[in-house]
Amino acid sequence: MRQLRHIDADAAHGRLTFARDTGFHGEVKRRVHAYFERTGLSERDSPRMYLKTAVLLLWFGASYALLVFGAATLWQGALLSLSLGLAMAGIGCAIQHDANHGAYSRRAAVNRVMGMTLDMLGASSYLWRFKHNLAHHTYTNLAGADDDINFVPFARLSPAQPRLRLHHLQQFYMWALYWFLFPKWNFVDDFKTLKQGRISGHQFPRPRGALLVQLIAGKLLFIAWAFGVPLLFHSWWVVLLFYATTSLVLGTALAVVFMLAHCVEEAEFPELPETARLPRSWAVHQVQTTVDFARGNRLLTWYVGGLNFQIEHHLFPHICHVHYPRIAEIVQGACVEFGVRYTAHASFIGALASHWRWLRRMGQPLATASAVVAATGV
Ligand SMILES: [Zn+2]
Repeated sequence: MRQLRHIDADAAHGRLTFARDTGFHGEVKRRVHAYFERTGLSERDSPRMYLKTAVLLLWFGASYALLVFGAATLWQGALLSLSLGLAMAGIGCAIQHDANHGAYSRRAAVNRVMGMTLDMLGASSYLWRFKHNLAHHTYTNLAGADDDINFVPFARLSPAQPRLRLHHLQQFYMWALYWFLFPKWNFVDDFKTLKQGRISGHQFPRPRGALLVQLIAGKLLFIAWAFGVPLLFHSWWVVLLFYATTSLVLGTALAVVFMLAHCVEEAEFPELPETARLPRSWAVHQVQTTVDFARGNRLLTWYVGGLNFQIEHHLFPHICHVHYPRIAEIVQGACVEFGVRYTAHASFIGALASHWRWLRRMGQPLATASAVVAATGV
């Protein structure tokens, strides 16, 4: 994390900057910290988080063991790989995400160990911290700087990205692309990023020593449990089939959680100004490029690690997600007072429909940034 802070500081002094805070960020931080002082709650190390960790890891272990050692028919295998994919998505959203943000525990070692659950799933937690914590969380929805909205050339998620003819069908085929997210992450993206030494134009220090060992060990461990052990008991096509079905479930779940928070009609996609200075402060930028969804759905909130409270996550990524529902009341109140547009979809289906319409709109020839502003009135 020492190196990450170093990179954060570099980014803050990099070419892209935000306008100064005019009071909103300072006030919302003051109110949230006052909430923790008043209630005596800890921002991290929540017992609910430890319980959730146990439940998700047991769900993962049981699904895997039954799939590899217990499934007797293809249908049983299909259901268990569905269960395995959902458990892995739960770990991705609700354990490693907090841990790699430093939001799981006040002890760095606990965050590091729980963050390794991402390595266990075959993706480097070291690289994710740069890709997600720096590129996505700082430059949210800025095409060219936020790697998480970069599906070029297969899809167009921002008006600032080039449009190809095939994009007019992207609201249909995008779902198939989500299938390949996880295998691509496992076997292509991490290695490509390591080779390039850059993420969306931002340099990062290549891992050395223990960090490099962790990255390689994570990949080997994943290959061992996902392919090695199952191949001892099943034929290669059965192993590949269930890797594919698990990847479909996992990739779709992770992509949908991300897309509903950032790639919907209500989220802004500001253009990069020539001055390299954005007109809004960082905190206002975060609120306007992010949308909450299904905040009243407690089961969904539990499962997606509070990422349906994505506005709160972007403003307070170092606070454990179990607190987001209460923090949301404070954030929303401050937004009203400071005139910052705060958007939340009431339901999951409503957010999903908005994501669909956004994909369809971005596939149209006239979907430039100014046309979108005119259409949405934002
Ligand atoms: Zn995050």
